Amino acid sequence: MTETARTDRPEPDVDVVVVGAGIAGLYLVYRLSRAGYRLRVFEAADDLGGTWYWNRYPGARVDVPSFDYMYSFDPDWQRDWQWSEKYARQPEILRYLNYVADKHDLRRHLTFSTRVRQAGWDDDASLWRVRTDRGDDVTARFVVMATGCLSVPKQTEIDGLERFTGEVYFTSRWPHDPVDFTGKRVAVIGTGSSGVQSIPVIAQEARQLVVFQRTPTFSIPAHNGQLSPERLAQFAANEADYRSAARMSPGGIPMERSITPTFSVTETEREQRYERAWEIGELFEAINVYADVMSNPAANHEFAEFFRNKIRAIVDDPQTATDLCPTDYPVATKRPCLDTNYYATYNLPHVRLVNIRKHPIRQVTETGIDTADESFTFDAIVFATGFDAVTGAITAVDIRGRNGLALKDKWANGPQTYLGLTTAGFPNLFLITGPGSPSVLSNMAVSIEQHVDWVLDCLGHLCARGFAVIEPTETAETGWTQHVNDCADITLFPAANSWYMGANVPGKPRVFLPYCAGVDFYRASCDEVVAHDYLGFTLSGPGGTECNDGVVRRLQPDVEMVLNRMAAMNLPTMESMPVEDARAFYNQMSAVRPPGPDVGEIVDGTLPGTSGDLAYRLYRPPTTPGPRPIIVYFHGGGWVVGDAISDDPLCRDLCVRSDAIVISADYRHAPEHRFPAAVDDAMAAVRWVADNAEALDGIPGLLAVCGWNAGGGLAAVVCRLARDMGGPNIIGQALLTPSTDGDMARASFTDNADGYGLTTALVRWLYDHYIDIADRRDPRFAPLQATDLSGLPPAIVVTAEFDPVRDDGDAYAIALEAAGVPTEHVRARGHTHKSVTMVDVAISGAPVRARIAKALRQFFAATRTPEPAA
Ligand code: FAD
Ligand code: NAP
Repeated sequence: MTETARTDRPEPDVDVVVVGAGIAGLYLVYRLSRAGYRLRVFEAADDLGGTWYWNRYPGARVDVPSFDYMYSFDPDWQRDWQWSEKYARQPEILRYLNYVADKHDLRRHLTFSTRVRQAGWDDDASLWRVRTDRGDDVTARFVVMATGCLSVPKQTEIDGLERFTGEVYFTSRWPHDPVDFTGKRVAVIGTGSSGVQSIPVIAQEARQLVVFQRTPTFSIPAHNGQLSPERLAQFAANEADYRSAARMSPGGIPMERSITPTFSVTETEREQRYERAWEIGELFEAINVYADVMSNPAANHEFAEFFRNKIRAIVDDPQTATDLCPTDYPVATKRPCLDTNYYATYNLPHVRLVNIRKHPIRQVTETGIDTADESFTFDAIVFATGFDAVTGAITAVDIRGRNGLALKDKWANGPQTYLGLTTAGFPNLFLITGPGSPSVLSNMAVSIEQHVDWVLDCLGHLCARGFAVIEPTETAETGWTQHVNDCADITLFPAANSWYMGANVPGKPRVFLPYCAGVDFYRASCDEVVAHDYLGFTLSGPGGTECNDGVVRRLQPDVEMVLNRMAAMNLPTMESMPVEDARAFYNQMSAVRPPGPDVGEIVDGTLPGTSGDLAYRLYRPPTTPGPRPIIVYFHGGGWVVGDAISDDPLCRDLCVRSDAIVISADYRHAPEHRFPAAVDDAMAAVRWVADNAEALDGIPGLLAVCGWNAGGGLAAVVCRLARDMGGPNIIGQALLTPSTDGDMARASFTDNADGYGLTTALVRWLYDHYIDIADRRDPRFAPLQATDLSGLPPAIVVTAEFDPVRDDGDAYAIALEAAGVPTEHVRARGHTHKSVTMVDVAISGAPVRARIAKALRQFFAATRTPEPAA
């Protein structure tokens, strides 16, 4: 009996073809066979185990604790499976997988020594035709690629290997019979995880060992040994809770995500924290020392320096130590390693490191290896040179989807998937731990189970609803691919030439392959897709077609994280408070932000407003002294809250990026001072700055305005008033999510009414405090209502996708353009009203702020060097 939906089309040979019999393939067999699906499982190897079948090199073992790296579907492990040590060796893991297969009678479904070569979608019959190298020709409704992220060894790119008369080994294809290096001269090429694990063990046997290193690695000691009794007890006390915590963790191992920024604690505390990570000997723990290690270059640099100091302390020969210190990529942007005696191995007299960046390998010869300046003789060469990772095993199969589209061609510029599980144009094809899923950045045992469970739930849903075919939409896939890239772009991952980036394989597109926001966020996305009627999938069958099209993650990932955190704090809304309390609350929230970059000088002062003195804060750039252009900045806060220093981090950032003096000028606030008090003060401030430019060490004539939110509106108003009043001369305006109209009927007020920081309810509260309804079409409040916008200074207008006032800003940018004002309109995708201002919190806002600063610099440059007359 099969659970899949019946159609009147030809009956396929099986319901599901599974490719691969590693951890993923075995769990698929367990779930599919128990659910009654008819299946075939093809495995190229002559036995099960995948990674743990192939990688039998000396020293091969896990780099996440063994009791985390195991199936959770079978809770009997405490009774009938005991790991012998914290990080189990390859033979023990392979024994475990065989034990699982035997216990659950999985083996009878597996066909070994059979490689799937082709899979073609037959649209008429709605089934896959699968071909193997053994001549099998099987039809199936579904194909599941459980082919592994690290199962296709990388081709050697070193000339002359075929000439070598000694022994050649690949860590990824290690012989089943023990290899004895006793008394031999051995070369190891490659110092990734496989090299780092095997080098100390090979060194114990070999007479001479030469390690050829292209890129040094960051490695921490595993401190392997007995399983910690405390942790075991904690685990045994409540395994279900433990497993559930793993599923909801960042990496698939129970662990709280660090939220402490590196430089928020003292240097001594940081040193102790790094030292503790080194002592614990767990990779995920090490990467989690501080919240910003993977995003802040300075934080990462400090942590990397800690590693380098450790290496220098362990390795006796200073030159070898220097060569072993990674310097050209941020720590953890290449997979860090866990080792046992790796660095100390280089202190052995018969072990030598050759830095092939300085002494490149020319060729393999009959007897050994020639570098540019030396000939080495070897009895054996070991290649630990890695894999065509993540996509290699999938694209190695000739997979053709609708209209004969080859997956390899579709992915020619990098993989595109929806959730890393499916890809548009390839119906009923599932990828286990495919590109765009956490996969290799996580404890893969957890990620594999999640994927397999998702696939099984999906098949069950199709059956229950009478659908036969599922396929992601282009919209959903494009959205997810964008989200995967957005996540990577706010990290340092793209800075490394890693296999995560496809950079280890010549010609492979340089794209970040896994999903780096974490197992927890990823799982939430997958669950959300299901909860929203398979959002972004088209489901079809005899009963018809259904599609709830859409994108599951549209916010920038860091913005979403901030919003989630805020939501979890369950704070009262400002509009529910008396104004004084709202102001105090606003200031309190501002006080806990990161400070922003250092500037050259900060001066607090007062300037004459229309009705008394107004506070200002001046920020001078940290560059060489001398007069600078001036930006008069108006803070946000809806005319009711905020002051000259409430946007301090943003002003610092603006100052440093634009290399201009920023003067954040306060204005009177409502409800004490209602419209048009703020406008009058803003105008007074600009006049005063223009009149005193020289005394402020500014360059007279080089004056621009900038503002965020209500301040953006004020900046826009001031430009028009200055035009109409004959000065002062403003040469550019930068409006960041400005409030430019009082019309709350625009769609963004409805679409983004709640959940994105600024709410429509709060906007209404602010408007009501500031201005009478009768005045809301006054262009001093609503610059969009001005009859003539021509002749205004060139503008950059930034609007945010998830902002109630987005459509106001969009309309204003369009109106400026229509009036002939040179206007750069930046639509900040995935941002909220406030997020672009969140310096050092929402990293995704940095490129937008860079564009604002660039525009301002261009305004100044254009005024400094006017266009030559035609
Ligand atoms: P695999 O185990 O790679 O199995 C895929 C199988 O598919 C292979 O047996 C392959 O032969 C078969 N196959 C591929 N293509 C075809 C085809 N066309 N036809 C037929 N069969 C095919 N991850 C961790 O989380 N923690 C660790 O400690 C860890 N250590 C690792 C150590 C090493 C040496 C390596 C290489 C990887 C390690 N990994 C680790 C990642 C590891 O790959 C996964 O944890 C996990 O084993 C993957 O299981 P899988 O079933 O998805 O893929
Ligand atoms: P890898 O991390 O890609 O390392 C390959 C090494 O070979 C790198 O040092 C690489 O240098 C070098 N190399 C590649 N081509 C070369 C060439 N033509 N000439 C000279 N050097 C060359 O591969 P891996 O060590 O097999 O590990 C792959 C992944 O598998 C790991 O990152 C990890 O996820 C997993 N793994 C885990 C464990 C574990 O501890 N449990 C063990 C092994 C593997 P460049 O860096 O310059 O490219």
